Amino acid sequence: LEEEFLVLKDLPCETKDGHRMSLFVNTGLSADIGLSLDRGAEGIGLYRTEVPFMVRERFPTEKEQEYIYRKQLEGFAPAPVTMRTLDIGGDKALPYFSIKEENPFLGWRGIRVTLDHTEIFLGQIRAMIKASSGLHNLKIMLPMISNVAEVEEAQSLIRRSFMEVKEEGYDVQMPQIGVMIEVPAAVYQVKALASIVDFMSVGSNDLTQYLLAVDRNNPRVADLYSPFHPAVLRALLNIVIDVKHEGISLSVCGEMAGDPMGAILLMAMGYDTLSMSSTSLPKVKAVIRNINVEQANDMLEQVMTLVHADAVTQTMTRLMREAD
Ligand code: PEP
Ligand code: MG
Repeated sequence: LEEEFLVLKDLPCETKDGHRMSLFVNTGLSADIGLSLDRGAEGIGLYRTEVPFMVRERFPTEKEQEYIYRKQLEGFAPAPVTMRTLDIGGDKALPYFSIKEENPFLGWRGIRVTLDHTEIFLGQIRAMIKASSGLHNLKIMLPMISNVAEVEEAQSLIRRSFMEVKEEGYDVQMPQIGVMIEVPAAVYQVKALASIVDFMSVGSNDLTQYLLAVDRNNPRVADLYSPFHPAVLRALLNIVIDVKHEGISLSVCGEMAGDPMGAILLMAMGYDTLSMSSTSLPKVKAVIRNINVEQANDMLEQVMTLVHADAVTQTMTRLMREAD
């Protein structure tokens, strides 16, 4: 199997009829870099910055962050590295920054925390921009966006940090700024969001959780949690339809992107980039290289008529076996 992966590594991710997809990786630790490059990742679609924060006993300083971020940026340069600003709260806790709430998933999470604590946000942004000095491959992504004002506020802080760092003499370029689409409200505002950002990435893990009102980590309701629920598929398709003409890159970076079934459906919907764990990457590439766009479109068309999540996965299993 490993040998097969080695052969795949240098082959393009394209369908039999030549439709190109970009496969990116999700990272968190420096150790993820080597493995991702070995598997042929074209860039980092989601670097979860909360990971290096979670494995420490206190907030890393700006200097420490710069060093940590530099490893990701350098490891992948000139390929793009999408760094997501701190996404704590909900299921992600820092041992030294306690958030106690009745409803953590609907509470102080992601961008809400960092816009309330701009010193955390600005420290991160400055460290990211400094770390990109001479490399110019940094993209910044904002998590848990639920309204346009959050994006505008974050953008203005990022612009300010960029000017400061540049004036300090660093060889830096203004990074592209993008948002995660993972809250239902953002799905209904994708047009407005697309007109002010450089890229978008759908967080299908949280989007599934929030659309279905099913806690992504609660085993009691795990049966109800599925990105193949027709409502989730409809939302994913609507996002593409709404932003198709905005000319911005549209990716998915939730678990669904690393699932062969999910990858095919997302490609058929019109997503151009899929970001996943490095372990999923060869499998997804193999599946995409083994299918035609027409077959994928046909599968999508069929599953979009179904009303049960189980029927979607069963039908996809059958169709993929038949196509093979
Ligand atoms: C998501 O929500 O789909 C996502 C990619 O982010 P996370 O899993 O880190 O919340
Ligand atoms: Mg998320």
